[in-house]
Amino acid sequence: MASCDFGLIGLAVMGENLALNVESRGYSVAVFNRTTSVVDNFISGRAKGKQFVGCHSLEELVQSVKTPRKIMMMVKAGPAVDDLIEQLLPHLSPGDVIIDGGNEHYTNTERRTAYIESKGLLYIGTGVSGGEEGALKGPSMMPGGSEAGWPLVKPIFQAIAAKVGPNNDIPCCEWVGPRGAGHYVKMVHNGIEYGDMQLICEAYLMLKEAGGLSNEELYDVFEEWNNSELQSYLIEISRDIFSVKDEEAGGYLVDKILDVAGAKGTGKWMSQLALDLGVPSTMVTEAVYARGLSAMKAARVKASGILQGPTVATAGVSVGEKKAFIDAVKQALYASKICSYAQGYVQLQAAAAEHKWPLNYGDIALLWRGGCIIRAKFLERIKEAFDAHPNLENLLFHPFFAEATAKAQDSWRKVVVLAAQLGLPVIEFSNALSYYDSLRRERLPANLLQAQRDYFGAHTYERTDKTGKFHTDWISKR
Ligand code: NAP
Repeated sequence: MASCDFGLIGLAVMGENLALNVESRGYSVAVFNRTTSVVDNFISGRAKGKQFVGCHSLEELVQSVKTPRKIMMMVKAGPAVDDLIEQLLPHLSPGDVIIDGGNEHYTNTERRTAYIESKGLLYIGTGVSGGEEGALKGPSMMPGGSEAGWPLVKPIFQAIAAKVGPNNDIPCCEWVGPRGAGHYVKMVHNGIEYGDMQLICEAYLMLKEAGGLSNEELYDVFEEWNNSELQSYLIEISRDIFSVKDEEAGGYLVDKILDVAGAKGTGKWMSQLALDLGVPSTMVTEAVYARGLSAMKAARVKASGILQGPTVATAGVSVGEKKAFIDAVKQALYASKICSYAQGYVQLQAAAAEHKWPLNYGDIALLWRGGCIIRAKFLERIKEAFDAHPNLENLLFHPFFAEATAKAQDSWRKVVVLAAQLGLPVIEFSNALSYYDSLRRERLPANLLQAQRDYFGAHTYERTDKTGKFHTDWISKR
């Protein structure tokens, strides 16, 4: 009997928590999982006594949900989603909404939206961020797809989403745009997350190796930073990590963790798409490479015995300089972070132009303000900037961010110089600084590059003093 308000497929960490979140807001939920023992365990476990209907087939799930149905998939992205759609379609009715809450590549969501709409149904591809805790207590949600489906899911989505604002009543969930726009925004969120994480790791490297800070001192520094303009979820959890002891072997757990980073691919997608669009999203790209370099553990161990460089005897800074040094690292982190967000927004603008997505950049900052992994106080400033200037070309051009980077730059440069002198790799700090310096230079050495291209390939060049395309027979003139 169709009695449920919502249907959910996929009871792994995200799906199970999201289902519990939906139910906790007063909605009855029908659930299905491919491995049906998972459904039984859920119904007899965490779902016990709650408004859930456990289903052993997709047909049963569809029949358990009231029309127009809202059925959300929280399964492994890719072909599994196409398979599920094909299995669902024969049972659904016109006007039903299929929702994909996974981390899907936006091109799949573009394709599926058109396909599902051609069948008279509606499709929503939504970014969901916040990990398993966010899914349960309030994620950030970035829905896009068939706009006609938005009023149908809006009450549920906005009820379960994280809330921000002075009264904690503004949901971090708003309509993003057509087709794959929601999943694109989620991908950029993840790419920015890559940059934020790498930047924090570089601040840690500098403080630990150049500053000689202990884990206790790192805890205090991150605690202080978390009460400043750097306040964010990632600073907060990093602070907490510095306090966790290794119960088995003694000492701190963070020091026992192998320095090899994993990745699931959303950072790589953003980087690949930035190259396709021709926009310099260098921060996410370098963050992906930094993880790649970390994964070359055996090669790094070998190289450490071959390649020469300065040896960092802990504490490159003296005790008296420590406070100023910590503040300099903070400035380097803050300024680099601004560059990273500036790049993310430039990519969003380029993608929006290519796909004709009417994105609201202030709203996107609001979606990321709570619930998600990159949630941060600083996003309020980004929202204000884009609300006041919806066509802002680059975040760095906004007076608030231009001033912040101007104020930070002396320290930022000193940290990059010190890192180079000590042989400490700060890929993102220096990458951000190069982006900043490239952007602020009216003239770059690309004049020589154009001359080279014209020399070997007759690719022509433009001139500074007159319009048109020019070619020189460089060989005859040498
Ligand atoms: P997951 O490990 O990505 O996927 C496991 C779920 O997918 C299980 O329910 C599994 O069913 C189902 N599944 C796999 N292949 C299937 C197929 N061919 N047909 C039907 N079902 C299939 O789970 P997750 O970590 O909870 O993530 C779910 C989605 O949310 C993913 O797209 C993920 O990228 C996204 N996401 C995850 C996080 C996170 O922090 N984990 C955060 C945001 C978004 P069985 O039990 O039968 O194997």
